[in-house]
Amino acid sequence: MTAARSVTVPASITVLSGGVGGARFIQGVLRLIETSGAAAEVTVIANTGDDIWLHGLKICPDLDTVMYTLGNGIDTERGWGRVEETWHAKEELAAYGVEPAWFGLGDRDLATHLVRTQMLDAGYPLSAVTEALCHRWKPGVRLLPMSDDRIETHVAIDDPDTGERRAVHFQEYWIRHQASVPAYSVVPIGATEAKPGPGVLEAITDADLVILPPSNPVVSVGTILAVPGIREVLRATKAPVVGVSGIVGDDHVRGMARQVLGIIGVECSAAGVAEHYGARSAGGVIDGWLVDTVDAGSVERIEAAGIRARAVPLMMTDHDATAAMVAEAIDLAGSRAP
Ligand code: GDP
Ligand code: CA
Repeated sequence: MTAARSVTVPASITVLSGGVGGARFIQGVLRLIETSGAAAEVTVIANTGDDIWLHGLKICPDLDTVMYTLGNGIDTERGWGRVEETWHAKEELAAYGVEPAWFGLGDRDLATHLVRTQMLDAGYPLSAVTEALCHRWKPGVRLLPMSDDRIETHVAIDDPDTGERRAVHFQEYWIRHQASVPAYSVVPIGATEAKPGPGVLEAITDADLVILPPSNPVVSVGTILAVPGIREVLRATKAPVVGVSGIVGDDHVRGMARQVLGIIGVECSAAGVAEHYGARSAGGVIDGWLVDTVDAGSVERIEAAGIRARAVPLMMTDHDATAAMVAEAIDLAGSRAP
């Protein structure tokens, strides 16, 4: 077991999260709070750019991954979707020849989407729906969608069937094409007209600490930052803002961050992502950045960009190892500028 550094846990922590990477990180935050006996509250602002309408249902992959993970309903092997899932509805849809066949829609999961869509149809905003779903899952955090407005990330690709360039939903790029087709741009459609969800700006402004977990810097955190107003309050908050690299040894730990960083022309390295976020003192969004021990050589480069940096083990192998990462983030937040 990894012993976490002894730190005073801030009373109010806000995390900007994607799905699997963010959810696992938040498990470490909760573990640290539990073991330290602190009375801290955690607010999670979740990416909704992955959201998609399928078969008349609103599906929110990152919100659900956070909710199921923290509510002990996740399939831990897969990292997404419900544990003990069955796939009868998906098979039946396929038997009718209904597209898309590539999206993993489980039977248990389907109930969540049915409840959500019914509530949306009845006029409730996504934030209220999320709160209602969390009554069941009790994630132990306040879970806020980044926006109640419809935002869908699209990727311009060369269609492998037709050879033509076209924009597809991020889910089609990610799941159907496994991020392996030539891609040219990533656009969170609807973001520029969207408003932050209720409580989102306050959660950043009033926090004692804001953490960017190792979530995908482009299609998870990047999309949250694309909602007008969020980047501005991150820059202005009195709370320190500390990030954790999801890139270790110049590649992502899980997922396909390397591919999407390539699309936006950002170097796939811990230092490259730190520079992409930028120092708050220089118009960016972070004050501190944790890199893995294998990337210790990049600490100097990151500090030269005005960002406090430290190299510590960043593998979320279990909740205690992740809690130790969170303790390092808290400690770094309280340290002096380089
Ligand atoms: P998604 O929405 O399900 O893709 O999940 P996120 O965007 O929240 O997180 C995905 C990112 O988490 C990927 O870019 C991974 O590199 C990163 N990640 C996953 N597991 C680990 C880990 O154990 N350590 C670190 N440092 N990063 C991780
Ligand atoms: Ca996601």
